[in-house]
Amino acid sequence: MTNDIFTTTESEVRSYSRSWPAVFSHASGSTQTAEDGTEYLDFFAGAGALNYGHNHPKMQAAVVEYLTSGAPVHSLDMMTPAKREFLETFKELILDPRGLDYKVMFPGPTGTNTVEAALKLARKVTGRQHILSFTNAFHGMTLGSLSVTGNSMKRKGAGIPLTNSSKIPYDDYFDGETADFLWLERVLEDSGSGVDKPAAVIVETVQGEGGLRAARAEWLRGLSELCRKHEILLIVDDVQAGCGRTGTFFSFEEAGFTPDIVCLSKSISGYGLPMALTLFRGDLDQWAPGEHNGTFRGNNPAFVAATTALREFWADDSFERGTLAEAIATVHSGLEQIAASVEGASVRGRGLLAGIRFEDVEVAGKVAREAFAHGLLVETSGPDDEVLKVMPPLTTPKDQLERGLRLIADAVATVTGADVQYRTGDRELLDA
Ligand code: PMP
Repeated sequence: MTNDIFTTTESEVRSYSRSWPAVFSHASGSTQTAEDGTEYLDFFAGAGALNYGHNHPKMQAAVVEYLTSGAPVHSLDMMTPAKREFLETFKELILDPRGLDYKVMFPGPTGTNTVEAALKLARKVTGRQHILSFTNAFHGMTLGSLSVTGNSMKRKGAGIPLTNSSKIPYDDYFDGETADFLWLERVLEDSGSGVDKPAAVIVETVQGEGGLRAARAEWLRGLSELCRKHEILLIVDDVQAGCGRTGTFFSFEEAGFTPDIVCLSKSISGYGLPMALTLFRGDLDQWAPGEHNGTFRGNNPAFVAATTALREFWADDSFERGTLAEAIATVHSGLEQIAASVEGASVRGRGLLAGIRFEDVEVAGKVAREAFAHGLLVETSGPDDEVLKVMPPLTTPKDQLERGLRLIADAVATVTGADVQYRTGDRELLDA
């Protein structure tokens, strides 16, 4: 079997296939198997699109049944029973129990589509152009999303000036030495500051791509209050941190504030099928019919998988309080132990959007490569790829979580030469 086609014909832009040079032919739960029979434990979860693992049997059965039923697969924004069922279920299981009175928009299939729709709506509703976003933010690859993204390499790819947005410091950017929002409060109140009043602030509660910094709840509440006071819309980009990733369905639940606009994608379909939502307060729903459209806004198999996922995992709080809470505890216990073994290393992130930052920026990449050689898919995050990013499916059984953490501990030991301690309960987990 030759893999030449991937290098001769596929663009140089490919990246994950370079980090993980295997041809994956099967996937189940938290594992993927390559054509050569090598099994990999997946602590990447489709960059957060596979929160419930690969090929979840109930979602698979629902999608297969739908595909063979003769019902429409593609429907733009026409009405279908699959879409009705999704909207009813999302409202009943997610919005209503959380007291969220959002309108639901289907902006197009991907994360960047929901961000673009959110920015567009904020500008339309407020009549202002400027958007504030945060240092190290990541919001997607289209021009609007890039304009609010921090990473200089990705921004450069735009090839044109990225305008109408300014970056402001994310939580703890100055290591606690500067009071939160000092600059922002001052410039908003100073008519001579030269900073245009923004339409919106867009924020990730945990920076998925930008190094897994997690904002403190009080910082998020402070931001929300400041936005309210100055009539600036607050957009939470929950594309990566949403759908349970941080321990609750929305990543902002714990902090106890209500964003004006919420972006969701990745795991909303539950099955890895493209789907995105933009949620916003009813009074912000000032779109004219068709003012924002797109061919792929009616992915009915995705609606079916999404409905199945919501019913399976979010009908009550048993998943959130049980399996998910336990998985988070297991992962954080492991990460804390491993980080404590390496000088200058620290745990970053929240829930199952977490990782280890190493002082030497080369370490995380080397650990990821070493882990891959031993059967673990784990990636890096941060402007210098200095953070090892641990993002298993939320449904990963404890023994697999511990096996993956053991592989990380071993890889860290190999790369750094540190005496890495990782114990599960009161006994050291032996290599599986
Ligand atoms: N926002 C956030 C927070 C993301 O993490 C991502 C993807 N990593 C996006 C937006 C863009 O999503 P997509 O790649 O589906 O366009």
